[in-house]
Amino acid sequence: MTAAAGFGRTARLLLLGPLFYLPRAPWLGLLLLFLVALLTLLTQIGGVVLWLWLAVSDVLRRAAPGRLIGRRLAAVALFFPFYLGVSLLLVPPVAGAFGRVPLACWSDRGSDYGPLTRATCLTNRNYAAPTARAALDATAARLAVMAPVRRLVYLDAGFPFHAWFPMLPHLSHGDGRKIDVALLFVDPGSRRPLPGRARSPIGYGGYVPPAPDAPLPCAGIRSWRRWDFDWLQPLLPNLDLDVVALRGLLAALVASPRVARVFIEPHIGARLGMRHDKIRFQGCGAARHDDHIHIEFR
Ligand SMILES: [Zn+2]
Repeated sequence: MTAAAGFGRTARLLLLGPLFYLPRAPWLGLLLLFLVALLTLLTQIGGVVLWLWLAVSDVLRRAAPGRLIGRRLAAVALFFPFYLGVSLLLVPPVAGAFGRVPLACWSDRGSDYGPLTRATCLTNRNYAAPTARAALDATAARLAVMAPVRRLVYLDAGFPFHAWFPMLPHLSHGDGRKIDVALLFVDPGSRRPLPGRARSPIGYGGYVPPAPDAPLPCAGIRSWRRWDFDWLQPLLPNLDLDVVALRGLLAALVASPRVARVFIEPHIGARLGMRHDKIRFQGCGAARHDDHIHIEFR
């Protein structure tokens, strides 16, 4: 291939992305289109990164020696470091220019809080407005004083760019002022605090069973937005709520002038004996909040 033809091919790949492959290899084109859509939904920037990588890897593939199959496998394997480089090095400063900052992940291990799973950071779901991050920082510091050994862990916060971009399956995490945090648990036998643990590996979907006499306003009400995952519950470990530490966490949250409200399931609020204007029930037409606490910052 001449240099001019190679340049033209790279330009078409940059412009068309997966569509470039549709007439040549329809199944590959469709697979790449699906991956672009999936990565965009999961990580916001992953689809764009894959689109760019198709052009970059094509240039590298033509320049590299060796058999075609080996060069194709190398192109697939090298996508991951390319994505990580963009996600970890390029996105944070650019997002900062648009008013989003990453929550503590791995670089600042001295922080009083962290993600439940590093997958949250790898998928860029750990961004928030600077004021929300400052309020979370302060809340985590207060929890560390009130309830030593425990640790505040967050689940989904927001994406790095654009308030209108949906972060599925959440309905309201677009503006950088919403952060979900995990409930706090103790070991049912030893009563030992379990910092950084939740019933499910991602925090969501492992619900705390209500007490027999607990208020259940959604009993018998079906909504496609309120998932129960009944089949999953027996597969998850049984952990007891850390009632004392959770009271401290909620007290710190409602005392913060930057916290507008928190969503928690009524049976959890009743068990903690906590009542406050800022502690609300999200209603039966939204996700359950007996696996996590949803915090809205001003
Ligand atoms: Zn939430």
